[in-house]
Amino acid sequence: MADGARRCPPVGPVRVTPEDARYEDLIRGVNHRFAGSPQEIRVVGTAEQTVAAVQDAVGAGLRLAVRSGGHCLDDLVDGPDTAFLIDLSELNQVYYDPDMGAFAVEPGARLGDVYRTLYKGWGVTVPGGASPTVAAGGHFVGGGYGMLTRRYGCVVDFLQAVEVVVVDASGRARLVVATRDDEGELGDLWWAHTGGGGGTFGVVTRYWLRTADASGTDPSGLLPRPPAAVLDSLVTWSWQDMSEERFSRLMRNHAEWHERNSAPDSPYASLFSVLGVMHRASGVLLMSTQMDATVPDAQGLLQAYVDALDEGVGLRPAHTVRSRPWLETTLRPTLPDTVTGMRSKGKAAYLLKGYTDRQLAALYEGLTGDGYANPGAGVLFMSYGGAVRAVAPDATATAQRSAVLKALFVTLWREAGEDARHLDWIRRLYREVYAHSGGVPVPDGTSDGTYVNYPDTDLADPEWNTSGVPWYTLCYKNNYPRLQRAKARWDPKGIFRHALSVEPAREQGA
Ligand SMILES: Cc1cc2nc3c(=O)[nH]c(=O)nc-3n(C[C@H](O)[C@H](O)[C@H](O)COP(=O)(O)OP(=O)(O)OC[C@H]3O[C@@H](n4cnc5c(N)ncnc54)[C@H](O)[C@@H]3O)c2cc1C
Repeated sequence: MADGARRCPPVGPVRVTPEDARYEDLIRGVNHRFAGSPQEIRVVGTAEQTVAAVQDAVGAGLRLAVRSGGHCLDDLVDGPDTAFLIDLSELNQVYYDPDMGAFAVEPGARLGDVYRTLYKGWGVTVPGGASPTVAAGGHFVGGGYGMLTRRYGCVVDFLQAVEVVVVDASGRARLVVATRDDEGELGDLWWAHTGGGGGTFGVVTRYWLRTADASGTDPSGLLPRPPAAVLDSLVTWSWQDMSEERFSRLMRNHAEWHERNSAPDSPYASLFSVLGVMHRASGVLLMSTQMDATVPDAQGLLQAYVDALDEGVGLRPAHTVRSRPWLETTLRPTLPDTVTGMRSKGKAAYLLKGYTDRQLAALYEGLTGDGYANPGAGVLFMSYGGAVRAVAPDATATAQRSAVLKALFVTLWREAGEDARHLDWIRRLYREVYAHSGGVPVPDGTSDGTYVNYPDTDLADPEWNTSGVPWYTLCYKNNYPRLQRAKARWDPKGIFRHALSVEPAREQGA
């Protein structure tokens, strides 16, 4: 560990059992639809404590799960089978490690803390997610994208090394470090952590980040620099003024703009926007956009983007823009967190092209039709592409390198008694939008599968996925076999598993 990296004694290990007052606080993540009932929750504060916790779970034959930031969209952590939960939220340091020549980020570090420490300390950052409360633990291993991704790529494009607790064939837990420069089995382990998804190969106790071709030893040159200032824009359209024709035109304009402006060298590489087409009950459709305020004619480029979306729609949406310092924009995003503590369901898709007329009609019907009204339901379309597209699909486990947009279908509610109604709405909407390909976004030249960090267990359910294309092809495309190889080598006893974990090839059968 780097000199001075940990000045105070670490937390833990703390054993929290159901009788403990803290238990109720620790059995839930962000999505309150799920709560586990583990026999023990082990709060750990060091890698060594994590090894011991894994060893104890394996020794007792208890089904294990790990939580860092708790933002998992589905019940991969809080499933009914989880008997031993390792809580990594207190293993959360961020520092420069001269021995590795890279920045170390522990899994419990929340993105807001990662951004703040990297920026205040060295003026650098990583192109990670937009929510400051998501933690590195699950986010990095699934790929990680956000406001700076079109400019710099995914977080995993900067993964120099990873420290993981693995369990060997004899049941012994140990720490392994795998780096970008390793080949063979260690190389596979590193690669599996560049998009293979959490909870499936081992427990990450540290990530190291560094630009792949960076040289020198000055830390401030080893990761990208964020813009000094950001144009932070909010556009709103009123549902009152929106006809189906206008809605479809807006959606087409948005997708076609992304098809035209998502090359790695686009002048719009620093623009990232989230278009939220929320249910009519919310009253508005809104778009939050951030763009580097220091690029030439940034204001003009941003206005041209908004104008391009309104072309032929003619609604002249309300538009506010302010220039904000980058760190403030990142730590206090314009769109607040409305998810934490709610019950929710998400379903995702990568888009290579915009939706067809039929898909747009299905979307419009889902957002406006009779029988369902929820201001917390809708579909978010996030800008993608740019620098992501400069990386080969097999260079990392993050296979989707050509998409221009990510879609996240989402619905939020409070009451447990309403689960069926909301789940039914989102499942039907998604199935209708992707009716031409078995209810899921099969990679077919217009769609490109889905994002492992937005896990959706319906993809493995033949009732909701009738495409004949398995969930793992939707998530990993052609990268699945190498992930299977890593799984067979590094988790031979199948200790780390959940509804959407990689299965070793020997068990794959067909
Ligand atoms: C409000 C919200 C906003 C989001 N915004 C973005 C975004 O902008 N960009 C983006 O890319 N994604 C985003 N996501 C998705 C996010 O990247 C994933 O949910 C991510 O897996 C969360 O990691 P976590 O550690 O917070 O969650 P957790 O629930 O703790 O973990 C998620 C998964 O990773 C596993 N895991 C956790 N820690 C470890 C570890 N140390 N080692 C191995 N496996 C581990 C867990 O077992 C689980 O399977 C968002 C999610 C939410 C709920």
